[in-house]
Amino acid sequence: MAKQNIDWGNLGFGYIETAASYVSNYKDGKWDEGGLTADHTVTMSECAGVLQYSQSVFEGLKAYETVDGRIVTFRPDMNAERLYNSALRLEIPPFDKDRFVEAVKEVVRANADWVPPYGSGATLYLRPYIYGSGPVIGVSPAKEYQFRILATPVGPYFKGGAKPLTLKIADYDRAAPRGTGHIKAGLNYAMSLHAIVEAHAQGYAENLYPDAATRTKVEETGGANIIFIKGNKFITVDSPSILPSITRRSLEYVAEHYLGMEVEEREIPLTELTDFDEAGLCGTAAVISPVGKIVNGNEEICFPSGMEEMGPVTKKLYDTLTGIQMGRIEAPEGWIVPVE
Ligand SMILES: *Cc1c(COP(=O)(O)O)cnc(C)c1O
Repeated sequence: MAKQNIDWGNLGFGYIETAASYVSNYKDGKWDEGGLTADHTVTMSECAGVLQYSQSVFEGLKAYETVDGRIVTFRPDMNAERLYNSALRLEIPPFDKDRFVEAVKEVVRANADWVPPYGSGATLYLRPYIYGSGPVIGVSPAKEYQFRILATPVGPYFKGGAKPLTLKIADYDRAAPRGTGHIKAGLNYAMSLHAIVEAHAQGYAENLYPDAATRTKVEETGGANIIFIKGNKFITVDSPSILPSITRRSLEYVAEHYLGMEVEEREIPLTELTDFDEAGLCGTAAVISPVGKIVNGNEEICFPSGMEEMGPVTKKLYDTLTGIQMGRIEAPEGWIVPVE
């Protein structure tokens, strides 16, 4: 196959239809065999569970070309596991984890000419999701579901280098202590939209949510975990109401095993923010976005790494993890999964 004729370096982060999506349907208590489709639309009951009560969970991962020209994905087994757990929390029948990884490979193979070339900074973004497709009017789980993986090429998250972001300690709460903050569900995003539109209007890049119960501890932003650097320490949040980011967990491993850092996963009081040297947001899309400043009411916390560039330790973490992903640095066993 020949690559699509796309200006890969100038792609944005938007949706473009590709050759095929993967679909499997759940009916009469079981998932069907599943397969590829070229139909990029969905037809369902006007009373579908997802439309009435937002019964849906999702994932996000990337396929890309490595330095030696292989098409690979990064730790898809972790996405399989997380989607499984998210589904259980919303009474959605979970999708088998091995089948998930096979479906990811199948959809990437079908869209091989949409996988951006090595060095372009672009990737083929994969969005697996499950939603209640069967009709529901009384509040209850749907009886029918669809699992789908769409693929869409996306550009480099930061064109021309990552500038440090300014975050705002959110005026709103994201996740209740025993709520759904730890699962990847659209419902957690729907309720964040008002807060992010407001924050953007006020000039902030993201909301950093404190814990909802006491509003004294750092949790995460609407779509990324937060990490801090202090000397040789990599410090990140331990909380039952944050989403377990695969990027963050990979960075913890990289910090400890590749960079010889000390890793701490613990509660972080807001009052400790002034102690850190560097900060960053982590997630699949950008890997790490540096944070230069956090504003908490009248207080401005400026990290010593400044507003011009990524802090030096954050940069080392970023270069090492992206080096592993792109095949320039040897990966831990099982992290890089070729699709062919
Ligand atoms: C998806 C997501 C992240 C990032 O997770 P990755 O696995 O690293 O992409 C962080 N926080 C929230 C709330 C998310 O939905």
